[in-house]
Amino acid sequence: MRTAIVGGGAAGFFLAINLKEMLPAMEVTILERSQRVLAKVEVSGGGRCNCTNSFSSVTDLSQVYPRGHRLLKRLFRVFDQRDAYAWFERHGVRLVTQDDDCVFPASQDSHTIINCFLAEARRQHINICTGVRVDDVASLMSQYDFVCVCTGGSPRPEGLRWLADTGHAIEPPVPSLVTLSIADEALHQLMGTVVEGAQVAISGTKLRSEGPLLITHWGFSGPAVLKLSSYGARHLADNGYQVALAVNWTGQREPEVLQALQQLIAENPQKQLPSVRPCGLPTRLWDYLLAKTLGERATNRWQNLNQKELNRLVNVLTNDVYQTAGRAVFKDEFVTCGGVSLASVNPSTLESRHVPHLFFAGEVLDIDGVTGGFNFQAAWTTAYTVAQSICAKS
Ligand SMILES: Cc1cc2nc3c(=O)[nH]c(=O)nc-3n(C[C@H](O)[C@H](O)[C@H](O)COP(=O)(O)OP(=O)(O)OC[C@H]3O[C@@H](n4cnc5c(N)ncnc54)[C@H](O)[C@@H]3O)c2cc1C
Repeated sequence: MRTAIVGGGAAGFFLAINLKEMLPAMEVTILERSQRVLAKVEVSGGGRCNCTNSFSSVTDLSQVYPRGHRLLKRLFRVFDQRDAYAWFERHGVRLVTQDDDCVFPASQDSHTIINCFLAEARRQHINICTGVRVDDVASLMSQYDFVCVCTGGSPRPEGLRWLADTGHAIEPPVPSLVTLSIADEALHQLMGTVVEGAQVAISGTKLRSEGPLLITHWGFSGPAVLKLSSYGARHLADNGYQVALAVNWTGQREPEVLQALQQLIAENPQKQLPSVRPCGLPTRLWDYLLAKTLGERATNRWQNLNQKELNRLVNVLTNDVYQTAGRAVFKDEFVTCGGVSLASVNPSTLESRHVPHLFFAGEVLDIDGVTGGFNFQAAWTTAYTVAQSICAKS
């Protein structure tokens, strides 16, 4: 029997290798449109490949998978992060789990994973054909017993037309994990500043997230914004990435911040405002917030703050609203929200509901996660599931 895997990326290779392990007699061919396989694995995680996560801080998959968490919950029963960890170690890739739960090869080099996949593919006589772009389901189905589409995220809808033409519903693709541009020169001067435990929200929606917020030379990035852009991927795209972004620099509620400022007034009446920073804010950020809130009175003494100024400071610390001017793609990781609708696949087998013996795995499906190794985990889990499904049908 013969299986064609369209796409020589993370999911395609993982599927090919597992399928051969389960069914050594299966002839497996990877068809890759570019000249190089596993290109994204190579650049992933800044070249280190954050290949999964310990999930220690995750109590529900919806916390890390804005789309696809219900399906993954079911599929994790078959192959989860512990299985992935054990799989890599069994195949000679030693892994380490960082303090932030992200899992990397101990070598800190994505080539360790690429070399593992290529060596396994060679050992198992998996055919790898590069420079082959597939865009016709019917012709492929006529040549192979099973076909699995592992073509990854397609930022443009045209890239999914060949799948739509065969009856599959497509969730319109939009980028996820983007950073937000803010037209504010004074803010850009704070580039490199990180505020731990900040909260960001899109005004007028329930979309919010918290975590480290990074100020860049174009606006905002860091885990808080990336996570917000993941959950708000569609809202942001629909609004041309121009929204009101409310930043709570302290991560605390207004009454708590008011109390903290009142305490500073009581303890430091003679000191100038810039010399005492509330809530552990970075110095440059505090100077910036003081200047934008109090103008010339930013260097006043704490005891001279009047009630109105105090209220304005509380407001800027907890609800500092910026108009975003667009998006920039996060350089270390970005994924596509959207793709083949999960309604078009059998949730247990990932077989197409429209074309028998056609399967899907990886980011081509409408599944995506936040940063932290969750996207690769989704690729491993869905690919393994398809290998098992094909095995069961052979
Ligand atoms: C810069 C960057 C860094 C990232 N870092 C991380 C990270 O550290 N951790 C993490 O979990 N996730 C990371 N991701 C996300 C992760 O890389 C993807 O989620 C993952 O690669 C998806 O695997 P896939 O096999 O579905 O798709 P891909 O790895 O994208 O593979 C798809 C393959 O299919 C080929 N293809 C596409 N269309 C066709 C066609 N019509 N015919 C033939 N071949 C085709 C493509 O050329 C490609 O080789 C990162 C993404 C980027 C862009």
